[in-house]
Parts: sequence; structure tokens; C-alpha cells
Amino acid sequence: MSDKILMKTPLVEMDGDEMTRVIWKMIKDILILPHVDLKTEYYDLGLENRDKTRDQVTVDSANATKKYGVAVKCATITPNAARVKEYNLHEMWKSPNGTIRALLDGTVFRAPILVKGITPFIPNWKKPITIARHAYGDVYKNVEMKAPAGSKAELVVTLPDGSEKREKILDFKTAGIVQGLHNIDASIESFARSCFNFALDTKQDLWFATKDTISKTYDHRFKDIFQEIFDAEYKSKFDEAGITYFYTLIDDAVARVIRSEGGYIWACKNYDGDVMSDMVATAFGSLGLMTSVLVAPDGTYEYEAAHGTVTRHYYKYLKGERTSTNSIATIFAWTGALRKRGELDGLSDLCAFADKLEQASVQTIEDGIMTGDLAALSTLENKQSVDTETFLQEIAKRLEALL
Ligand code: NAP
Ligand code: MG
Repeated sequence: MSDKILMKTPLVEMDGDEMTRVIWKMIKDILILPHVDLKTEYYDLGLENRDKTRDQVTVDSANATKKYGVAVKCATITPNAARVKEYNLHEMWKSPNGTIRALLDGTVFRAPILVKGITPFIPNWKKPITIARHAYGDVYKNVEMKAPAGSKAELVVTLPDGSEKREKILDFKTAGIVQGLHNIDASIESFARSCFNFALDTKQDLWFATKDTISKTYDHRFKDIFQEIFDAEYKSKFDEAGITYFYTLIDDAVARVIRSEGGYIWACKNYDGDVMSDMVATAFGSLGLMTSVLVAPDGTYEYEAAHGTVTRHYYKYLKGERTSTNSIATIFAWTGALRKRGELDGLSDLCAFADKLEQASVQTIEDGIMTGDLAALSTLENKQSVDTETFLQEIAKRLEALL
């Protein structure tokens, strides 16, 4: 028996809910523990334990991530009214992802995993397009009102000395609506740094786009902050890495993205990111092939799958029925975290293991063995839809051959 791959620093392990919690354990048992002397600091973010700890466990897991630098997270339930009843919750706890993101001040990067046989709807997309979405402000923190006919709407900012800056929005001759938006320089700066760092980390160009020709103060501030930080802190590093930072108008960016072959990071304002990440994810084919990583401006990383807890499959699983849940994005969350841990601790064996596990996963699908969601999309001729566990066993076989 060969020795297991050793680790130095623990990964922060955030367990989660429902079908992804089931898959989580299978991935560890079947793919990781046989080969890696896995060190983790475990936090149970399953809804029951979040409720039991009054959500303190979520805060603790975020603080541990700050301490160690790398986390891997399972999908978790964001409770709504139905979940409060189902789990008999003390409160409708906030989204763990939202809580962790706020504590780490991070940006979420979503990237598709490309495999042969599952072709993007845009035929010229050959490489992944990673979307970075700013996660603060704009329309998500808006103040809005209806304005009856005859009303006057103004924008008023009261300065620290009590004086007012005031600008008329409109004299409403007929009824209408009005909305106030804001953002904060510090948040835009963190967003910019996370994007520049992630571009350097993954050696990909960074694109950023707003509507600064129309929004000459608001969107222009985003453009200026990105440019100032780039010139002062990142320009020479980008030159060295052979990558570029490219700013354009949002409508021009959309046209270029569609015509491109992919292979870059597209940084989006909050609303643009919401819309464009769904567009890009759909065009690449499957939510089950979309990874997600939260990157803090100080270089802290939290890896996860972009999909949720796959509730419908979980209820089938509980009834003892066969499920065919795609575990690829959750496997890639683990490999992303293990590789990053390996890089930070100088453990080339651990990095190589992560690479091989990804290779084995992709190979399995390209050999025609896949879960039901992928079989429905794949253009391979002799494809075969297998259950969750068989899929992982098939990956394990290929992994062992590579190791
Ligand atoms: P979801 O769990 O992503 O599932 C939606 C549907 O997409 C599934 O029913 C399934 O379709 C398909 N799907 C998603 N992932 C799949 C996979 N790995 N393999 C196969 N099929 C997959 O989203 P949801 O149903 O809207 O949300 C369920 C729970 O997840 C909610 O409580 C929500 O709060 C939570 N959630 C968590 C996160 C997170 O932690 N990051 C993100 C989103 C949602 P079929 O049923 O047609 O097979
Ligand atoms: Mg959306």
C-alpha cells in the first residue's frame, strides 16, 4: 500500500444539506480519503446545526476561513417560510453564502467545466468564461417610491457639515416611479482587487464593463476605481503574467462575449452579474458543471458548486429510490480547495492529486459514463446514465489508474 498524500494546514470544511450532503460524504469516502491524509477543520452548516447554534456556526466557519485561507463548502438551504416549518426553525436564518461573503468581503467567480460531448449553445465558445459579480449595492439596496401626478422628486445628499447637495430628478406631470441607488468606494475597491488577484491567479485576461457613457458619475466611478487600482498595484504584474485588463461599455462587452472563444474573466456590476451569469451558465449547458469560488481581496478562497442542494433528488433518495445526481461541481470544489492548499503550503503532491481527480472526472464523462442530467445533453453515441454512487466509483477507477 502506498503512503497517503500528506497535508500541512487544515482546509476549512463546511458541510451542508440534503442531496449535496449525501454526495459530500461519498466524495470524501470514495475519492479523497483513500489517497489523501485529509486534514480539515469541520463546520456543520447543515440547517439543523445552524438552527441549534443560532447560526453562530456560519460565522465561526467564515472566521476560520480568514484564519487558514482556504475553505470548501457544500450547498446549503437558504430557509424560506416553508423551510421554517419543515425544520421547525427558531428563525428564518439568512443565506449562509450571504453571511460568509459579507464577513470575507469577497467576490464570487463562477466558471463552467467543459467536457467533450456537451457543447455550448454558442459554438465558438471553446474555453470557459468566468463571471465575477459584484455583490453589494445598486438595485439590490435600492429605495423606491411611487410618485403621484404633480409631485417633485429630488436627490438630496446631506453633507457632514449639515449643508445639502440637491438635484431635481423630475417634476411629475403624470404619475410615475422613482428609485435611489448607491454604492460605496470601499466595496468597489475590494471587488476590483478580488478580480485582479483572481485574474493573476488563473492567468486569464480580465474584462470589465459598465454604462459610463450614460451614467457619467455613478458608473464612471466604477470605471475610475478599477483603472486607478490597476495602474497603481497590478499593471506590472499583469505584464509579467502576459495577461491584460480590458474595459469597455456593457453593450459592447455583450457583443464581444458572444463572438469570443472564451478563456477570460468578465467582471460585472451586481445586476449585470445576476443576469449574465444565468445567461452564460445556461449557454454552457448545465448547472451541474458550474463551479463557484469566493475570493476575498486579501487572497482568501472558498470553493463550492454553483447549484443548490438538489432537493427533488434528496426526497427520492430518502424514499430509497435510485438517484442520478451530478457530483462534478462538488468534486471540483474539493479539487479547487485542495490545489489551492497545496499551492500555499508548497505541496506539489497535493496539487497533482487535485489535477488527476479533475482529469479522472472529465475522462469518465468523455468515456460516456455520466449522470442523467448530462446524458440528456451529451452528444456522445454510446453514453450511459448511471446512479450517483456508480458514477463516483467509475471516477475512482480512472483516478487510481492515473495515480
Ligand atoms: P438546485 O438545488 O440547484 O436544483 C434545481 C434543479 O436543477 C434540480 O431539481 C435538478 O433538476 C437540477 N440540478 C441542480 N443541480 C444538479 C445536480 N448536481 N445534478 C443533477 N441535477 C441538478 O436549486 P433549487 O431547487 O432552486 O434549490 C434547492 C435548495 O438549494 C434551496 O433550499 C436553496 O436555498 C438551496 N440553494 C443553495 C445554494 C448554495 O448553497 N450555493 C445555491 C442555490 C440554491 P431536476 O429536478 O429536473 O433533476
Ligand atoms: Mg439570477
